[in-house]
Amino acid sequence: MGEYKFVSFGSGSSGNCYYLGNEEQGLFIDAGIGIRRIKRYMKEYGIKYNNIKGLIITHDHADHVKASGYLSQEMNLPVYTTQLIHEGIKHTFHSGKKIEACNCKLINPEEPFEIGDFKITAFPIPHDSTENMGYCIELGDKKFTIMTDVGFPTETVHKYIQISDYLVIESNYDEEMLKNGKYPITLKQRISSGTGHLSNRQAAETLAANFHECLKHVWLCHLSEENNHPELARKTIEYHLRSFGIIAGKDFQLEVLRRLIPTGPFILQ
Ligand SMILES: [Zn+2]
Ligand SMILES: [Zn+2]
Repeated sequence: MGEYKFVSFGSGSSGNCYYLGNEEQGLFIDAGIGIRRIKRYMKEYGIKYNNIKGLIITHDHADHVKASGYLSQEMNLPVYTTQLIHEGIKHTFHSGKKIEACNCKLINPEEPFEIGDFKITAFPIPHDSTENMGYCIELGDKKFTIMTDVGFPTETVHKYIQISDYLVIESNYDEEMLKNGKYPITLKQRISSGTGHLSNRQAAETLAANFHECLKHVWLCHLSEENNHPELARKTIEYHLRSFGIIAGKDFQLEVLRRLIPTGPFILQ
């Protein structure tokens, strides 16, 4: 099927949108940036409209679904997510276009479904949206897993890291920066709660606890602008894994996804 590439079009509270595909088929994960930017980046990265087979949605927060209706209509794309999240998008998403009923595709957690040649399994991740899904996408004999907005690293989260060759995982905030930063206390509590976001330390510990030799590439996503810094996130993860003898750049590749501009393309070997 040819080699796959992964591109992040944007990652974080200002908007999330990720592309995964090969020469024949591709899909989007989330559509939380403007439709014009999505179209511009598609052109820049040589991604063809006709190859896109679907859009999968993690959850119904605006930074993940803002452009989902537009994107679905422009490309007549089926949109895959759970019933609760589809309802959430309908009810809580005020501006912009709704997803046409015929393009609303319902999926269930832990029940594999197919988009073109992609075999995909959704799995639940705690977060303060109606529901929040991680996705494990089979690319031939390799597995690509994305888990963003992770309130807490549950057993299910651990399980999916253990079977993944490629992993996109949240590393939202530095705990000291959040504690000492200027966010109001209620927002600080929301972010650090079990239904908020994953800290650099939690991401590091979760990776260390589940690291295995097939895990070839890890991308840190959804970094906070206010309470994190790309180099700090990278160093926190590198340092922690090193204490277990796992060396970034040698045992696996570690990348940090940019918030406002694309990162990649990354060729998945
Ligand atoms: Zn988010
Ligand atoms: Zn969210």
